[in-house]
Amino acid sequence: MVSITFYGAINEIGGNKILIEGTETRVFLDFGLCFNRYGNYFSPYITPRQGLKLKDFIELKLLPDLEGLYRQDFEQRFRESSKEPLFDGVVLSHPHIDHAGFIPFIRSDIPFYASEGSLAILKAIEQTSQGFYEFLKLKEKFKIRESKREKGKYVRDKDSSVQREITTFKSSFKIGEFTFHPFSVDHSIVGATAYVIETSEGAVVYTGDIRFHGRKYDLSWKFVEEASKYDPILMITEGTRIHEQTTVTELQLEDNLKRIIKEISGLVVASFPVRDFDRMQSFVNAGKENGRELVISTRQAFALDVLEKEKIDDVPNLDEVRVFLPSKSWGIYDNPNYPIEIQMQDYSTWERKIIEKSSTITANEIREEQESYILRVEPTELKYLLDINPKIGSRYIRSLTEPVDEEMEIQQQKMDNWLKFFSLYPYKQLHCSGHTSRKELLEMINKINPKKIVPIHTENAKDFMSAFEKVMIVEEGVKITLK
Ligand SMILES: [Zn+2]
Ligand SMILES: [Zn+2]
Repeated sequence: MVSITFYGAINEIGGNKILIEGTETRVFLDFGLCFNRYGNYFSPYITPRQGLKLKDFIELKLLPDLEGLYRQDFEQRFRESSKEPLFDGVVLSHPHIDHAGFIPFIRSDIPFYASEGSLAILKAIEQTSQGFYEFLKLKEKFKIRESKREKGKYVRDKDSSVQREITTFKSSFKIGEFTFHPFSVDHSIVGATAYVIETSEGAVVYTGDIRFHGRKYDLSWKFVEEASKYDPILMITEGTRIHEQTTVTELQLEDNLKRIIKEISGLVVASFPVRDFDRMQSFVNAGKENGRELVISTRQAFALDVLEKEKIDDVPNLDEVRVFLPSKSWGIYDNPNYPIEIQMQDYSTWERKIIEKSSTITANEIREEQESYILRVEPTELKYLLDINPKIGSRYIRSLTEPVDEEMEIQQQKMDNWLKFFSLYPYKQLHCSGHTSRKELLEMINKINPKKIVPIHTENAKDFMSAFEKVMIVEEGVKITLK
């Protein structure tokens, strides 16, 4: 018997944690964090208890209460931990946090499967972001060892770490009784993969997050064509935008950008998602056409460098962009009173590495030649403009989703104040989604033609029922069987 249990992404967007179980094999598809649900309890000011994070998340039902799944160093803080892992693998669809964010809690001895692109992104996040992002290297917490100097005395062992068991794939692979066929698909991040999983009771399709309007839309259609050949008995499909009819394509967005930027005489300031390299390419291209270079953050540059090293193409080259060197906490960058090696100590080790190998640019340099650049900043980094002073004729382009909750609204209000301060208000909103709209979503399902459909990653699962007969509305934590 084969069964599937959904521990998230039911009536919510993201937080995918899908357990597929056979007679002897148990595999999780994704292990993500749902931002909405997390935000019900936590904020930058209300944080989980460091050593008891796992307990807090299980108690609050942010994580399923399962044995033999979680890291022993965290689990042993509050309960006995199983000696052996009781799961055979975790398979990732793509490296967005709502699909990968809770992987750091999974035991290192449960094999982890991800595409090369996904793994490269996770590597970059792990090395450059603050927060609990131990995707590949797990630093063992709370370990003690006998002191080398004094027998019988114990000290904390802070350097102990283990490497997660990782497998990347180029073609089909087996985990126990299941065979996984991976297909690269189009989404707003590198490495996105959909799967057909062959089980003893038939094939199961899992779309992950998918769209048909980015630069790699043809990959998504290729997946649809291949998946239909397996005559699937069940399709687990994302449905984020089931209620939205239309969509702007990435290439239309790029054309719009080119037109808008042509009209701007001062500095172009822009915000777009940190790891959306499809969007970055649109900005690079729109810049080139208008004699401007795109200036990105050190974090983005680091990711480009990792992707380049891992030979993941279809992203801009590091030498096509400039890298912004902001004045950091000491405020001494570009100050001749301080030797350069002292100035550089203000940057973290990973930042220094990327600064050395890229073409950096400072606020002073941008201020002198504002019509030559597109400066990409996070909405929270508009403060850097205080060192640039955008001249009259400058504009801000916001290429992010509209605020969807209260917290985002509040942040948006503050951002608007900053923009008004710099005379960059009103701004230009220009975005295209990472998710397929209704028309292509229905076309995908019709072509794959599964016996049953389980819509997830949506707040509008019931909308599927007007379009299809065999829709299963499932409940979180309730097992469904494939027969
Ligand atoms: Zn998602
Ligand atoms: Zn996603």
